[in-house]
Amino acid sequence: MVSMCNENLESFSDFLVSKGLRMTGQRKGVFEALFKQPGHFTAEQLLQDAQSLDDTVSRATVYRCLPLLVESGVIRKIDVGQDNKYYALNGSSETFKAQVVCIDCDKIFDIDAPFMEWYGKNVSAKLGLDVKDQRLQVHAECPQFRKQGNCSRSIN
Ligand SMILES: [Zn+2]
Repeated sequence: MVSMCNENLESFSDFLVSKGLRMTGQRKGVFEALFKQPGHFTAEQLLQDAQSLDDTVSRATVYRCLPLLVESGVIRKIDVGQDNKYYALNGSSETFKAQVVCIDCDKIFDIDAPFMEWYGKNVSAKLGLDVKDQRLQVHAECPQFRKQGNCSRSIN
């Protein structure tokens, strides 16, 4: 888990100002709730934690805040091709991560995949391209699935 420091909050505040927006109490609640997330989280999980910090945070606040948080680089969106969109905090020293998704319970495992970054950079350098985004997704059976033949539907 990444811990929050005032520096994080200040740089997000600066980002908001650059967009003509203010750091409101609700936005601060959403921002602080980010740092309570164990790993991957959905908008709904973030909403619950934000509301426990500040009960005036609305669903609309969270949904409007998420794209801003992604754009500012605080969090990244993880598209695993499911209905629920997942988000994760951007750590400071980030090795490229690949996602392994259980085919039954949808649990997401992060694995370090530094070769992916290398691959993207190398291939595009050869073609004279600038990499903007790349993803690797592996679908697998989680340990519980392998043991029991099914898994509880809880998401991580
Ligand atoms: Zn599973």
